Amino acid sequence: MQSRMMLDHADFLRSLPKTDLHIHLDGSMRFQTVKDLAKEQGVALPVDSENDLKKKLVCGDACESLEEYLEAFDITLSVLQEPEAVRRVAREIVEDAAKENVRYIEVRFSPILHQQHGRSLVEILDAVLTGLDDGSRKTGVETGAIICGMRHIDPKVSVNLAELAVAYKGKGVVAFDLAGAEKNYPAKDHVEAFYTILNNNVNCTCHAGEGFGPQSIRQAIHYCGAHRIGHGTRLKEDPDLMAYVNDRRIPLEICLTSNMQTGLIDKLEDHPFRFYYDLGIRVTLNTDNTLVSATNITREYQLAVEHFHLSLVDVRRIAIYGFKSAFLPLPKKVALLERVVRETESLIGDAFGEELVPPVDQY
Ligand SMILES: [Zn+2]
Repeated sequence: MQSRMMLDHADFLRSLPKTDLHIHLDGSMRFQTVKDLAKEQGVALPVDSENDLKKKLVCGDACESLEEYLEAFDITLSVLQEPEAVRRVAREIVEDAAKENVRYIEVRFSPILHQQHGRSLVEILDAVLTGLDDGSRKTGVETGAIICGMRHIDPKVSVNLAELAVAYKGKGVVAFDLAGAEKNYPAKDHVEAFYTILNNNVNCTCHAGEGFGPQSIRQAIHYCGAHRIGHGTRLKEDPDLMAYVNDRRIPLEICLTSNMQTGLIDKLEDHPFRFYYDLGIRVTLNTDNTLVSATNITREYQLAVEHFHLSLVDVRRIAIYGFKSAFLPLPKKVALLERVVRETESLIGDAFGEELVPPVDQY
């Protein structure tokens, strides 16, 4: 009883060491930073009043599809075309994550979307990596960048972006992803980019099973070789594939609030998160877009606890799944995991008594 009460408490979930493995740079700016950058750069925003701007940027219940959700990004991207702006936002994302006790964050973005002022892919990528470093030095949070190809943009561009990810392997870029509208833009069209990634021993993830069904997840895994799946919400429609994902320990990057706002589910109780978790699937909790979804990682954990009746053991396991799923070299990952395991043991022991600390499972 006591553990349930404590678990409902935001402070406990905030103090839990966490990861955020699925967060988009252009959807996770501070609201004030959008305004600051627009002013500094002389960029005209589509609306004048603060309230109207908030309505455009923050997706409420009115947001009915992934496509509508993506519209807010036109505004954020309008002020993210200069390296200095991108650097600032990358740093602020790490600072904001640190406040929620995130210990490891992978920030994703597509450099191709930041070239409206003619900046090169490398200029934009270097700025993001410098911003992540700035944030990391300030907070101690470990960071990595994920470069996204875009489904609706020419697959040849994805190949260029994959080559960029390969060139920056071990220099701040930890993986490649495919993002953007899923329907009508199959991942297999971008298979050459994924071959480039896999042939160079780089990690990859792929948004799938969000805007389209399990066929999309199958393509991501079997055509593109994805090591993790972004969302995977509709995976349960294909039990055989779901068993494969579970057996292979392919992590799902779950983003609860985002799935609600894009209309994928009507209410959180309809989300298969608990179902996947009970099967043993390696589910991780992530924010997707802290500005556009008006969330943070502690809130995502809180939602999961409240709606899926998670116990203390569950919450700790899910946090550890996040660290296990990190695109980090093994020695670094093990060091981070060992630290987190020890820390969560004492955190839980202090709060609830030693006898409640379960051993960490091997899977
Ligand atoms: Zn996403």
